[in-house]
Amino acid sequence: MLNILEIQTKLVEAALPSGHERACGELLAELAKPYCDEMWFTPTGSLVCHRKGPGKRLMFAAHMDVIGLIVTNISEQGYLSFTNIGGHNPAALIHTTVRFENGVRGIVKLKNQGDWAEKPASSITLPDLYIDIAATSREEAESMVALGDLAMFDTKPAIVGDDCLMGPYCDDLASCIVLLMAMEQVDKSDNDIYYVFTVQEEVGLKGAITSTACIEPHFGIAIDVCPTGDDLSAGQEIPVAVGKGPTVKIKDVSVICSPKMVAFMQVTAEEHGIPYQNEIILGGGTDTAGIMHTGKGAIAGCMSIPCRNVHSPRELVSIRDMENGAKLIAACAKTTM
Ligand SMILES: [Zn+2]
Repeated sequence: MLNILEIQTKLVEAALPSGHERACGELLAELAKPYCDEMWFTPTGSLVCHRKGPGKRLMFAAHMDVIGLIVTNISEQGYLSFTNIGGHNPAALIHTTVRFENGVRGIVKLKNQGDWAEKPASSITLPDLYIDIAATSREEAESMVALGDLAMFDTKPAIVGDDCLMGPYCDDLASCIVLLMAMEQVDKSDNDIYYVFTVQEEVGLKGAITSTACIEPHFGIAIDVCPTGDDLSAGQEIPVAVGKGPTVKIKDVSVICSPKMVAFMQVTAEEHGIPYQNEIILGGGTDTAGIMHTGKGAIAGCMSIPCRNVHSPRELVSIRDMENGAKLIAACAKTTM
């Protein structure tokens, strides 16, 4: 049995924003090795773990890239301008601490803070923000970071309450763990199974598209997180809650899941006594669309782990949902469609 907090901590330390997934991929390869017959990296860096079977090709995908910030300019006073890799809420970044790959730390701040007191948070944009790394000149800052350096949330995973994992990058490293836990439960299957840890989901589902082109699956299931409607900050009517089971996605902005796959996942959950919630979300896309619409296309769906505070430094998921999610993925992997 995998120790979820321990693995999430290791993955968070290895993970980098989209386009820089190799270290995380190497760590996942080490963890996945006992559960597959062969593995390889695609030309763009997605990790494919193949469990051979005589039947149709079934692909699972969880993305191993995370969102981040990239330095675009260093001012004379030593402050850093940046842009985003993946979706960020600019207002939520204010006073967030970040760390660079080389260990340099900084804090995101708002320019001319006094002028903003009366303005709505939604009017704040990324160019209104900068990173303070405590340098006092351009020269000093340039000795610490360079243009193009990547910054990530400087928070650590922790257990909250008796069942929740809180911290950065549950999206989608928690799903990578779910996929590993599912692999552990599948010793034999008639399906020809490809477990894929994809790259560059946060910038346009690119790893799902390219790995689907390599594998040409008949069926595919993405594993990601989804926002919930169970807390006061939700602002959207989403009938999904943390702790009530993984979801079977019906639709998101990028995809209308194949009805055949939705029904298959629902029936499989019911037959195995696994709690699940149906999910329709009004914002965000997933690797599902990449699997479904690449090449000749595949019958595709998605399972999500309900997650509060998505894309913040402190996302929150239920460990029970992760365990039930792994059971559902394993049950789907062992069943022929
Ligand atoms: Zn995601």
